[in-house]
This record gives sequence, structure tokens and C-alpha cells, in this order.
Amino acid sequence: MGKPMFRNICVWLCCCFLFNGWVAIGTAQVPPADLVLTGGKVVTMDQSQPIVEAIAIERDRIISVGSAAKINKYIGPDTTVIPLNGKFTMPGFIEGHGHFVGMGQSMMMLNLMKAKNWDEIVSQVEEAAKTTPAGQWIVGRGWHQSKWDKPPSPNVEGYPTDAGINKVAPNHPVLLTHASGHMSFANGYAMQLAGVDQDTANPAGGEILRDESGKPIGVFRETAQGLVSRARARDESKKSLEERAAFMSRAIELAGEECLSKGITSFQDAGSNMRTVDVLRNFARGGRLTVRLWVMIRDNNESMNGRLANYKMIGYADNFLTCRSLKRSIDGALGPHGAWLLAPYEDMPTSSGLNTAAVESVRRTAELAIENDFQLCVHAIGDRANREVLNIYEELFEQQPTAISRRWRIEHAQHLHPDDIARFGDLGVIASMQGVHCTSDAIFVPKRLGMRRSKEGAYVWRSLMDSGAVVTNGTDAPVEDVDPIPSFYASVTRKIADNISFFPEQCMTREEALRSYTIDCAYAAFEENLKGSLIPGKLADIIVLSNDLLDCADDEILETKVELTILGGKVVYTLPK
Ligand SMILES: [Zn+2]
Repeated sequence: MGKPMFRNICVWLCCCFLFNGWVAIGTAQVPPADLVLTGGKVVTMDQSQPIVEAIAIERDRIISVGSAAKINKYIGPDTTVIPLNGKFTMPGFIEGHGHFVGMGQSMMMLNLMKAKNWDEIVSQVEEAAKTTPAGQWIVGRGWHQSKWDKPPSPNVEGYPTDAGINKVAPNHPVLLTHASGHMSFANGYAMQLAGVDQDTANPAGGEILRDESGKPIGVFRETAQGLVSRARARDESKKSLEERAAFMSRAIELAGEECLSKGITSFQDAGSNMRTVDVLRNFARGGRLTVRLWVMIRDNNESMNGRLANYKMIGYADNFLTCRSLKRSIDGALGPHGAWLLAPYEDMPTSSGLNTAAVESVRRTAELAIENDFQLCVHAIGDRANREVLNIYEELFEQQPTAISRRWRIEHAQHLHPDDIARFGDLGVIASMQGVHCTSDAIFVPKRLGMRRSKEGAYVWRSLMDSGAVVTNGTDAPVEDVDPIPSFYASVTRKIADNISFFPEQCMTREEALRSYTIDCAYAAFEENLKGSLIPGKLADIIVLSNDLLDCADDEILETKVELTILGGKVVYTLPK
């Protein structure tokens, strides 16, 4: 289009708007907004104007922020006005690492998180067996042996055996996933369907726990979980396509509702295979995603090779789905002794954890990421795992100098050798961490690592930030509840009980914790120009809270409620009265 024509159209457009009710600010004309939020303490996360009173929104975007006097001029006859009554208002939380579909699915299973001991879990399964037809799977999630008030009886290394559950559910296969997702419990029936017995060998990167006689007790560590989960998948695949699709839809809907009620407007999904991404793409296309998703593709190298171009989506369906990163895991989790350490576990000196995927295979994924211009996100928990991943990144960045700007991430980065901490900042590697894991795991971290390693390298947010690294926040839901408030609280207090903090010198400040849950998460997804702060042009993803997260007392943080969630300029959640 030639310049004069473009100018004519602009003049014509301006006239149209003028006659359609533009209002004046000083001498300038402004269009009336669709929505105005006014009279709040609006924390923008924008350093040039950190706190304002009001926001004007047109369609799904912020058009102006500032004083109430300035923004009230955007109020026209059709503008919806929401008075904030002094309330704390901020950008919607961005969950930096969770499992979206898994979270929805776990909401349809037995929730074992609150059980005080194994006996209570046996009772939960007994109840479920009464209403589940014989032969059908009973599934649950969230048990954690280190959080029980007494050890199971009988037990092997503190882990339960299948005896109790076999008694209450002899006619049902039972599969109960550990809170970490890195271990599973199966009863005798499920092991039978999986073909697991005394003679079954441990798969690479996994372990079948056994009693003294060598008999499997029903507990499967890391990749050994696949033996039982594949048996369940075989049974699931016998269900009709409609049944499976309905289950998936329900999981996606439940996860979305849960996020909005907790003030999460964007969710970084830490790994879905290409089949699941197909489903999510269909949901996005049909306008059925309620939360903005940023999905890491987690599939094997063979499947991804040559197909990734078809899966690259940036801002698809009005910014509801983005897919531009790959996910791998190189080790397990600390709770079930699966984190890969440089030196043996303090409480299991025979083991230094598990390397769950060959280093060469992870390097190949890194090459695929470079070839296809994807980001790379690798799960690494133990100090050995983190070192190996940093080594791969460093080596590839040297070969491909432009790769350093790709914002590659390490998911969890929980336990670092002191020599490796500064490498995050130096290499521009993002530490994608979860505040709440620190306080949730604190009860067993010193047991696993000993005091020196815990102090020097466990959840060292402060040291990472001080060395120039970007640290993001999240919950790893369904490993933890997706609620950002406890994770924010953990980030700024590291409190595990009254007056006991887990190495408090590593706390984030309130401002840093807010950044880690908003603009820094956006940065870690190349979305800092779209979300994470409240400035004109960005998406109107905004939440209103009952407490002031910058100024309230520590203990009041946990009482904070989400009163209002606005996504793309629309109110999508209101706290019930
Ligand atoms: Zn995860």
C-alpha cells in the first residue's frame, strides 16, 4: 500500500472513531475501553511504572495503565467498570512447569496426598474397590513415604509391600503413583497383568524393589514404572475412541478450571507427546482451551526427527497455544532416590541415583532442537544430572554460538554442585524451579544429601540469581497442588514450620518471587513482549487478590485468595461469596 493511501485510510479511521464516541484526554482523543479496572494497587511488573491505580482494556489487550484520573477518561457509555477497592492487582500467574493433562487426570483419581500413613491409603483403596467393577483399574496419585507419621508394616527400605492392598482389593489391578511421579506402587493383580515376577529383570534406568527372597514388593522406581503403566495402557486401549476422548476432554476442562480459580492464566506444560499436542491443537482451534498453554514436546528422537516443523506453533489460536520447545529427562527425583548425584546418597550409600536417559540420547535431542530452532528443556534434579546437562549445553553453544540466545532451560535444577551454579548465568541457561518443592522436600533433603550438600546446593535460588541466572517458578502439578500461593510463600520464607526455615539465606525477595511467577516465566518462553507485565499492548491477563503480596505479613500470604481472574480482557473466575 502506498503511503498517501495509507494516510487517507488513517484519517478516515480516525473520523469514524471520533463520531463513534471517542473521548478526550487533554487534547488527545482516546477510544472508550471495553473494560476499565480502577482504584487498585496495581503492580505492573514494569520497572518504569511499577505501581499504578487503573487499567484500560480493549478486546484482549491492555491499552493504557496509570492513575485513576487518567484511565477513567477511557470510560464510555458501553464500558464495563470494575472498581478494585484498593485491592492488590497483578499480571496473571504463569505456572512455569506443570503437567496440564496429568493434572486434570489426577483430579479424577484417588488423591493420596493428604494420607498420614500407608494404612489410610489402604483404606482409600478398600473404599474405591466397593464401587469399582471387578477387573477395572483403581488408580491414585500422591503418596510419599517420607511424609507419613509411621512407616508401613511390613516394609522394605521404608516402602510399602503389596500385602495390605492385595487383601482389600484382590479383584482389582491397583496402580498408585508416588507424589514425585518417579515411582509407582502396584498390587499383585496389576503385577500379574504386567507379567512381573521374581524373574523379571530391572529395565535400564529403573528398579523393581524386592524383598529378601527377591520377590517384587510392588514398588517400581523410575523407568521400571513402565512395566505396570504399559499393562494399564493396554487395557485402556480396549476402551472405545469416544470413551478415551471424553476422558481426555474432561481432564483438559478440569485442569483449566482449576488454573483459573488459582489465578493462573498461562501454563507451561512440561512435556506432552505429539498425540496429546494434536488434541490440544484441536481444543485451541475450537476455542475450548481456557488457559494459555506453552507446551514442551516430549517424544522420542526417532518420532520427532523430521516431524517437528509440523508442531511448531507460536501464539496459535489467539495466543492460546504455543509449542516451540522440547523436553527430556536425564534423571529421576530425590524423594524416591532417583536423582543422579555426583556422590552416593547419605541414606543409601550403595546408590548415586539413576541416569534415566543416556547422555548421548539427550545430546541428540539437543541437536534436534538446534536443527529445528526449538528451545530445549531438560529435567535434571541431582548435581550429576545438572552437570551433564550443562556440559551438553556448553558444548553445543560453543559449536553454534547463536544457540546461546535460545534460552535453554534446566527443569528443577534442584541440587547443584557449587562449581556449577555460576554456569547458569554464564551460559544464559534458565533455572526452571519450583518454590514449593523446597519446603515440601525439606523434611528429607538433609537425610538424602547430608547437611553440607544441602546447604551448598539445594534449591539455591539466591545464589543462582546473584550469579545472573533467570529463575522461574511453578509447582510441577500434579506433583504439588498447582496453587501459586504456597509456592510464592515457600520462595520468600523457605519456612517448613514455625521459626524453622530451610537455609533462609537462599530466600527470594517478594519482588523477585513475583517476577519469577510472571515476567521471568514469560521470558523463559520468549513471551515477555506478550505477557508477564501490565503495559499497553500486552494481553489483558490480570488477577485481583485478597492480600497485598508485597506488603502483608509472611503468615498472611498463605491466607491469600484469588478474587478475580481476567484472561484476554474477560472475567473468567470470580471468588464465590
Ligand atoms: Zn515435571
